[in-house]
Amino acid sequence: MAQIGFIGLGRMGLPMLRNLVAAGHAVRAFDIAEAARVEAREAGAAIVATGQEVAGEAEYLISMVPTGRHVLEIHTGPDGTLARLPDGALLIDCSTIAVAEARALHAAGRARGIAVLDAPVSGGVMGAQAGTLTFMVGGEGADLDRARPVLQAMGRNVFHAGTAGNGQAAKVCNNLLAGISMIAVSEAYTLGQRLGLDPATMRDIVSTSTGSCHALVNYPPVPGLVPNVPSSREYRNGFAADLMLKDLRLAEQAALETRSSLPLGTLATALYGLFCGGGSGDLDYSAVIRMIEGATSPAARA
Ligand code: NAD
Repeated sequence: MAQIGFIGLGRMGLPMLRNLVAAGHAVRAFDIAEAARVEAREAGAAIVATGQEVAGEAEYLISMVPTGRHVLEIHTGPDGTLARLPDGALLIDCSTIAVAEARALHAAGRARGIAVLDAPVSGGVMGAQAGTLTFMVGGEGADLDRARPVLQAMGRNVFHAGTAGNGQAAKVCNNLLAGISMIAVSEAYTLGQRLGLDPATMRDIVSTSTGSCHALVNYPPVPGLVPNVPSSREYRNGFAADLMLKDLRLAEQAALETRSSLPLGTLATALYGLFCGGGSGDLDYSAVIRMIEGATSPAARA
């Protein structure tokens, strides 16, 4: 049993924490939101008043917060957790943030003598609940070996992506693909339905054909095809479109830094930007199909 500190008890953090408690770990936790703290207490964690207090006794400190700005605020600087972590502790940030921000966190850890892993996840809220997340980890292999039993309580696949920041590099590439393919799948389902094709029949056919992909088969944007995915519960409590937009912007930032070109990524960023700007950013990103459906005029359908 390990002493684990956990900061960020949102859609992902709370179910991850539940799995740590279920595996027998002692968890101290903090979130700025009162409702999240109440749920974490009910889940069996000890709640403390600040992030620094979480760090005070941690062997492992995990953070799962929205952006790199939050991560650097929480961990670095005079009031950051790095100033409070005991010697020998391991800091594991599971948030999705820029590669450059993750490398800044590793550098701050090195300056304090604290090992850091960037360990973003894939698998969404359902994967967090089921304990089947995929972790993509950047940092020293020996530190990952130390983290493995803790990560395995929350996930099924733990990959070493390479050196500091490489976990985030894998994550940004994954989400670039996920964001683009959800738009492509939305176009195909919308066109199919307007051609008179039943979406369930289309899913069956395409899932064994060359157009098959995760968004089409396992996470379809059309409600009712797969139980429990966000589209089947009015696009609630999934991977917020706002967060997908954030991740696509991280991909664009990474492309600028590496002189890469992302023509489809740039278009996808613009489309999610329009969708979120219209006030739907809190819905799961698969709700982008609503905008795709609206983009074809009734006259064009007739
Ligand atoms: P969320 O908004 O539901 O939860 C974030 C939590 O962090 C909130 O409870 C918020 O109050 C808390 N928080 C913010 N600032 C804080 C601070 N300074 N101190 C303590 N708590 C603070 O977000 P989420 O969906 O859980 O996503 C978290 C991270 O995981 C993001 O980086 C996201 O991109 C990534 N992610 C999310 C999913 C998903 O499906 N939701 C999937 C993979 C990765």
